[in-house]
Amino acid sequence: MENKSETFDVAVIGGGPAGMMAAGTAAAKGANVVLIEKNNKPGRKLLLTGKGRCNITNAEYDPSAFIETLSKKAKFLYPALHLFGVRDTLEFFNKRGLETKVERGKRVFPVSDRAGDVLRVLLDFLKETGVKVLVNTPVIGLEKEGRSIVKAIIAGGEIGTGGHDTSPNQINQKFFGGAGGDFSKKPPARRRQEKNSLVAGKYILCSGGLSYPGTGSTGEALRWLERLGHSIITPVPALTLVKVAEKWVDELKDLTLKNVRISVYQNNKKQDERFGEAQFVQGGIGGPIVLDMSKNIGELLKKGAVRLSLDLKPALEYRKLDARIQRDFRDYSNKMFSNSLDKLLPQKLIPVMVNLSGIEPARKVNSITKEERKNLLHLFKELPLRVRGLFGFEKALVTAGGVSLKEIDPRTMRSKFIDNLYFAGEIIDLDAPTGGYNLQICWSTAFAAGSAFDSRF
Ligand SMILES: Cc1cc2nc3c(=O)[nH]c(=O)nc-3n(C[C@H](O)[C@H](O)[C@H](O)COP(=O)(O)OP(=O)(O)OC[C@H]3O[C@@H](n4cnc5c(N)ncnc54)[C@H](O)[C@@H]3O)c2cc1C
Repeated sequence: MENKSETFDVAVIGGGPAGMMAAGTAAAKGANVVLIEKNNKPGRKLLLTGKGRCNITNAEYDPSAFIETLSKKAKFLYPALHLFGVRDTLEFFNKRGLETKVERGKRVFPVSDRAGDVLRVLLDFLKETGVKVLVNTPVIGLEKEGRSIVKAIIAGGEIGTGGHDTSPNQINQKFFGGAGGDFSKKPPARRRQEKNSLVAGKYILCSGGLSYPGTGSTGEALRWLERLGHSIITPVPALTLVKVAEKWVDELKDLTLKNVRISVYQNNKKQDERFGEAQFVQGGIGGPIVLDMSKNIGELLKKGAVRLSLDLKPALEYRKLDARIQRDFRDYSNKMFSNSLDKLLPQKLIPVMVNLSGIEPARKVNSITKEERKNLLHLFKELPLRVRGLFGFEKALVTAGGVSLKEIDPRTMRSKFIDNLYFAGEIIDLDAPTGGYNLQICWSTAFAAGSAFDSRF
């Protein structure tokens, strides 16, 4: 087995969407680039995105409108969006054979509905630009001298059989033949857990946040950065599921409700409200509208109790819905109550609603009193859920917090303290609602960092 040694213009740490885009972009500009990934293949989280369909971006072409959907601090993104915006993302993927379609809320997906096809384009990009991909290679720290990173420290990795070279300018990890390597290959039998170092002119840190840690995003780089003097905005789960006290939600696990409205209350005052899709999960509720309110709910919980109110029929105001229920009750007057709600509710929800209504399921519909019907009406319009808290990083789609925006140059993503260190993707203190915005943050910041390759390094 051959033992390769090489130096690099650019080392990209983390093979997620940001890392792959940054590495390919720098290599396309002529840099000799290595992409270092601790998993056995890049893009593990990318494959989970959009429930396996990957919502690549949001077809909001106007940068101001795009940024307004995020938050005030997202103004930081202007230069990067200018450099590589939504149209550029679509062109990048379309040009490489990935057809895309736009769905509700301007969400863009591959026509194939397969996140794997998005990953394939990125892997081809790495191959086409000649990026070397190192897998099973966790970076465990960065060493700094003065205002520069002098090396990345690596644990383990696949070690070649011909001994190893500890020269700081060289790397003795075994390459998997660039991006075209066979990632499914088993690691070589000889594997030593030793520390090695890798030297490059420039380092782009794309190691992500802390959400879905099973995919490799475990946030350790934030700790080294703090030691190197960077300010880290405390990471917290964002776009996460909400835990509720009501036990009946468990019976509805995986039930998706389209076109519902959820309102958030504290001290009986409405604090937030969204219309769209929600989904019950074990112990709680999720779906895009809940995920998008979760950050707000987290803030409210710091001040006191929070409750949700679920409107199952937002298109029908009380009187209209009451008329609709009465009509169904007339049609089903001799049926049992539990068999009278088929036209109004998904099957899975009927036993729960029947139980909550307090009306005996076997009662004949024609025996239901006006008061009982009114109670049922209120359940349809204001199904109450008491919030117990938020699910943590395990279930959070993104991480809020990360490297402080104040310490990053928004045009190049370069650290303001360390001249050859750059950032891209979720590691940066930027996060967005659902809808493809988070991946666009990755594409734009990664392109900016990758383009900032400077041959003087
Ligand atoms: C279930 C789910 C669904 C989502 N769906 C969407 C969606 O449809 N649309 C959207 O816009 N966003 C979506 N997101 C968010 C999106 O996936 C993230 O914003 C995006 O993956 C962040 O990319 P990244 O490259 O910055 O980091 P990551 O994707 O987290 O990649 C970081 C990589 O770095 C590697 N790494 C970390 N530390 C080290 C180290 N020390 N050494 C070597 N390698 C390291 C990790 O193994 C990982 O491969 C979703 C997230 C989840 C969890």
